[in-house]
Amino acid sequence: MRRRILRSIVLATVTVLLISLALILGVLYGYTTNVTKAQLKEESELTVRGVEEGGIRYLKRVGLAQTRITWIAADGSVRFDNREADPSGMENHLNRQEVQEALQFGSGTDDRFSATLLERCHYIATRLSDGSVLRLSVSQYSILSLLLGMIQPVLLILAFALILSFVLAGRLARAVVKPLNELNLDDPVKNQEYDELSPLLHRIGNQEEALHQQSAELERKQNELESILENMTEGMILLGKQGNIILINAAAGRLLGADRHCIGRDILMVSRNISLQAAISKALGGRKESCKLALRDGMYQLNATPIRYQGHMQGVAVLLFDITIKEQAEEFRREFTGNVSHELRTPLHAISGYAELLKNGLVKQEDVRSFADQIYGETQRMIQLVEDIISLSHLDEGASDMAWEEIDLLEAAKLSVSRLKGIAETAGITITASGDSARIYGIPGLIQTLLTNLADNAVKYNRSGGRAELTVRKQEDGVLLTVTDTGIGIPKEEQQRIFERFYRVDKSHSKAVGGTGLGLSIVKHIAMIHGGRPDVSSTLNEGTKISVLFPTPEDAKKAHETPPQLLQLL
Ligand code: ADP
Repeated sequence: MRRRILRSIVLATVTVLLISLALILGVLYGYTTNVTKAQLKEESELTVRGVEEGGIRYLKRVGLAQTRITWIAADGSVRFDNREADPSGMENHLNRQEVQEALQFGSGTDDRFSATLLERCHYIATRLSDGSVLRLSVSQYSILSLLLGMIQPVLLILAFALILSFVLAGRLARAVVKPLNELNLDDPVKNQEYDELSPLLHRIGNQEEALHQQSAELERKQNELESILENMTEGMILLGKQGNIILINAAAGRLLGADRHCIGRDILMVSRNISLQAAISKALGGRKESCKLALRDGMYQLNATPIRYQGHMQGVAVLLFDITIKEQAEEFRREFTGNVSHELRTPLHAISGYAELLKNGLVKQEDVRSFADQIYGETQRMIQLVEDIISLSHLDEGASDMAWEEIDLLEAAKLSVSRLKGIAETAGITITASGDSARIYGIPGLIQTLLTNLADNAVKYNRSGGRAELTVRKQEDGVLLTVTDTGIGIPKEEQQRIFERFYRVDKSHSKAVGGTGLGLSIVKHIAMIHGGRPDVSSTLNEGTKISVLFPTPEDAKKAHETPPQLLQLL
């Protein structure tokens, strides 16, 4: 910009200078021409008067150095010329324009350039009384000769003007450009230097503000997207069409063991998982692909979808969903179904066997009752099993349809004891319920089931003469239920497994006492629904203590509001 301003100023200066010179020269030349002509006219009038009176003698006396005087006879021959000693040798002047005009009108003038154009002659001719013509002429430098004569000083002036204009234009350009260079474009409206720039600066200011707003909005969206991606539990990867990683969120990075530096690298170099590689290769080939992957400590569902834009493959979007819980639940369900089938098959086979023998009359009359007892016993076990399964599936669904209320745990324990008293007495076992009257918040039916299952086990796995005690204690952190017996006890290594579904320490003993292997898993389930967890301590052949710490009614209400996850309960 500086250079442009400089060039323009220098060009303008030189142009103005040249035009001014030409104009001044023209005006001066015109002026001097007029002066010369006026002088010539005056001299002519004086000379005419002198010649009329003194004739040629006068002419010979006149000493006009600058002016040429020619006296021409009426026929055009030259009588006298102050520049020629012998005028007779001069050519005839009759055809000269000023002479012609003088002969015709009394006076005439003409201007003529010399052959070299360097001089211009002004002529004035006057007809005398004798018919002859007196002509005076004076020569003047032509504009061209003036120019040629002045060329040196003009060039010098031009050079000086050029240098001066360069210096001044440089300063001027700097002075003009400096405020522009110093414009504060961060806050354009505040610049006051040039009023002419104000609309532009306002516009820049508005645009800048719009840009700021747009970039803030973009940044907000980017942050939003990033935080969504980073906090997603699902893994997400975006790949370019060559399989290079464009984006990978924290969850996917963790699963593949990739850090932030993996951006730009080939996914196949980052993860060596064969199934992942195969799925991505297919997706890069344009096919949507899904598969299950074992990654780290879980199972994941991989969905690889090709991304196309206007029909052209752009890359692949990979999503990794954690299906560990689902897989475990499915596995658990498979196992459970297998166990249920097995548990049902055994009594059904027994019933079918007994019935067949009875049908074919192969049972002696005195044994029929015992066979009927067996069939009754097996069906009772099956009924119990089916009831337990129904209870469990109801619990699996969260028992959300059941009403919660405050329950006196000691009262509930006493109720269970009273129900079992008869069975206990038959087995020679003393069963009691004692302790503090303490309230818990829960589902009465389920709490009763929990108490009955624990008390039932304390009787079932006891010895004649033994004791089964249900104790309720109020504690700071809740209400502690303890069911203690003096029975057969549980080996240390099996204590944690007794809460598993269908797990029995001694299968035949459990069956003999009418167990289904589901009682304690129902207990655990109910305890967890109520925000508690059963705890076991047992010594083989001495006895078992199973305790459940129930939360205070206030805490239990919270636990009720946020039902536990399926897996936690399994
Ligand atoms: P079951 O219907 O067989 O009693 P449970 O789930 O109630 O099933 O108990 C699982 C297993 O734990 C029982 O089969 C038994 O071997 C053991 N068990 C439970 N309670 C006691 C106890 N109080 N004393 C000794 N063993 C017990």
